[in-house]
Amino acid sequence: MDYYVSPLQNLIDEFRKLPGIGSKTAQRLAYHILNLPEGKALRFSEAIVEAKKRITYCKVCQNFSDSEVCSVCANSARDHSLICVVENPRDVIQMEKTNEFKGVYHVLHGAISPMDNIGPEDIRIKELMTRVSEGEVKEVIMATNPNLEGETTAMYISKLLKPFGIKTTRIAHGVPVGGELEYADEVTLARAILGRVEL
Ligand SMILES: [Zn+2]
Repeated sequence: MDYYVSPLQNLIDEFRKLPGIGSKTAQRLAYHILNLPEGKALRFSEAIVEAKKRITYCKVCQNFSDSEVCSVCANSARDHSLICVVENPRDVIQMEKTNEFKGVYHVLHGAISPMDNIGPEDIRIKELMTRVSEGEVKEVIMATNPNLEGETTAMYISKLLKPFGIKTTRIAHGVPVGGELEYADEVTLARAILGRVEL
């Protein structure tokens, strides 16, 4: 039995496909949209279409960009010899918020995960190697996630970089600021010890 008229059911189904949205939330969002004035609903739908149409990948770092080369890659004040490799565009935003990193990025759009059938050719490693082979790069910082997939990816890329003689580093992982040692798990604590720095 159909509970909803079909356009409403379609809307619920579309929301349901989004990550982290269950049936209840999908229904709530669909009703919210229905209750919007037409102009607001239209702007929402246009924002989706515009984003999909206008945003492409930066041809250098592969991050999302509304121009051929993104603002970070186009900025001559940034250190282009220092590349920070991340899994997702969201990671770039996080790094930028720290105001600590003055180099440039490379976005892989994923990580190697044999369990999910994601191999090296499924993420943007080839593009990174092209950048490196152009000869300007002095250091590559692997800032992939500290989980199995992220570690596998970091190891894989560091092996590829070996022949280029480029310094390859891994971001330090350890006890979170504001955390307490007794609550850190063993893996995190082991990492913190290995990644210790001189004071
Ligand atoms: Zn870029």
